[in-house]
Amino acid sequence: MRVVFLGAPGVGKGTQAELVASTYHIPKISTGDLLRSAVSQKTPLGLEAKQFMDRGDLVPDQVVIGLVEEKISSPEGAHGFILDGFPRTVAQADELSKQLEAKDASLDKVIYFVIPREEIVRRLSGRRSCSKCPAVFHVEFVPPKVAGQCDECEGELIQRNDDKKETVESRLSVYEEQTMPLIHYYKQRSLLEELDGSGSVETVQSRLLALFPAP
Ligand SMILES: [Zn+2]
Repeated sequence: MRVVFLGAPGVGKGTQAELVASTYHIPKISTGDLLRSAVSQKTPLGLEAKQFMDRGDLVPDQVVIGLVEEKISSPEGAHGFILDGFPRTVAQADELSKQLEAKDASLDKVIYFVIPREEIVRRLSGRRSCSKCPAVFHVEFVPPKVAGQCDECEGELIQRNDDKKETVESRLSVYEEQTMPLIHYYKQRSLLEELDGSGSVETVQSRLLALFPAP
């Protein structure tokens, strides 16, 4: 089973990807994880990526694609994979399809997680982080025992700039604008399945698993 999960930040696709990956015993591949592990293991691509990251630059497509290629060609990826948040561009999608073709393989599905915009904003802008320790809360879903105060260390809870409503709104607009060509690309190839990502983790998971053959 070779699947791509697409969706804006905050749709919960990472959590769902983990659940599906463990159900089907296939790896969940996210470029963030790949980069972190290549850098810490000092692989050739990892060392190359690190040069860009140290300068605060974006890691170029070729390096990211190389890391994905390594992973899907490894024994671990032999029976399939879930790509979480990759590809991001049509160029990456083309490259991925070429690599798979070279192995006589192809993608089975691209799942596009869709949630009403207000709900994503509610999920993301409700996050509160401790100013003293790594604890994270949510005003609605994971509220602290005392409002505005960390359960772990009693530090003051703050809303990070990234989680402010305006920032979330503009990140979503950027995401939508960048992703539309990709959605169109997969739609044209009859690979795209839209998935309603609203509701609890369990509800979304049962909708999702209904799209796949029984494990
Ligand atoms: Zn704390």
